[in-house]
Order: sequence, then C-alpha cells, then structure tokens
Amino acid sequence: MPLRYPSMADRLIANSCVAPISLWSAGYWYAGEPCWLWLKQRDRHGYGRLSRRLTKGPRKGQPVNFGAHRVAVRTFTGRYLNSKTPVMHACNNRECINPAHLSGGTYRKNNRQTVRDGNHYSGFRGSRAAQQEAVANDFEVIA
Ligand SMILES: [Zn+2]
Repeated sequence: MPLRYPSMADRLIANSCVAPISLWSAGYWYAGEPCWLWLKQRDRHGYGRLSRRLTKGPRKGQPVNFGAHRVAVRTFTGRYLNSKTPVMHACNNRECINPAHLSGGTYRKNNRQTVRDGNHYSGFRGSRAAQQEAVANDFEVIA
C-alpha cells in the first residue's frame, strides 16, 4: 500500500466513488441514496477486496484480504462481524460499500433475497420467473 490513510474510513472513502447519475436508473440507487462503488481490486465474484495487515495474533504483520463491504460495515457502523455473519447488499451491487445499503443478516435471509431477486444460479423461484419473463419478452419482440 503506497499511501497511508489517517483512518480506515478515509481509506474507504478515498477508494470509492458515488455512483454517477447515469447509473442510478441501472440499479445503482437504493433507499434514497446512490451506491458507493469500490474502485480498487475485486475478487473473482465481483466483490470489492482490500488488504490489511494483521495487528495481532500469530500472523501479525502479514497482509490479509477482506471484503470491502464488510470492512465498511465494521468501520462506519462500528458493528462487529464474525465469520458467521454475512453482510447483505440491499442494492444487489457487489462492489457497493455504502453502509446504508448494507445490513448484517443470516445466510438464510441472504439466500432468500438472492432467490427473490432472481439472482440465484439454480434457484427455482426467482430465476425461473426471470427466465419466463425473458421468454415472454422475446415473443413480444417477434410478434
Ligand atoms: Zn449500494
């Protein structure tokens, strides 16, 4: 990390940007606020990542990757997250770190939201409905 920031909040804000107006209608807007897009590295699933050095424990001083959205919840809300607490994106944008769009949930709630919003790869309710809608739209185009 070439730069040192006075705090993690400064680092999160410096490495993200408010979604531009042109993207608001594309779903980068939720609950009256635009998404904050993480500009640095992403993992292969599209989630923002950031590297921190551990400050204690046997691996002290070694860099470890964290989910940027999880660090944002920890930093901006002060909420402690353990490995059993997933952080849910209410806006469904994996690169978003706006704390107003993030909530600590359960894996059950997270999976339900994924299926409900049609984002589950093999979920039968949301994704099936989305497929049928896509098929119906195709017919409209042809007719
Ligand atoms: Zn968002």
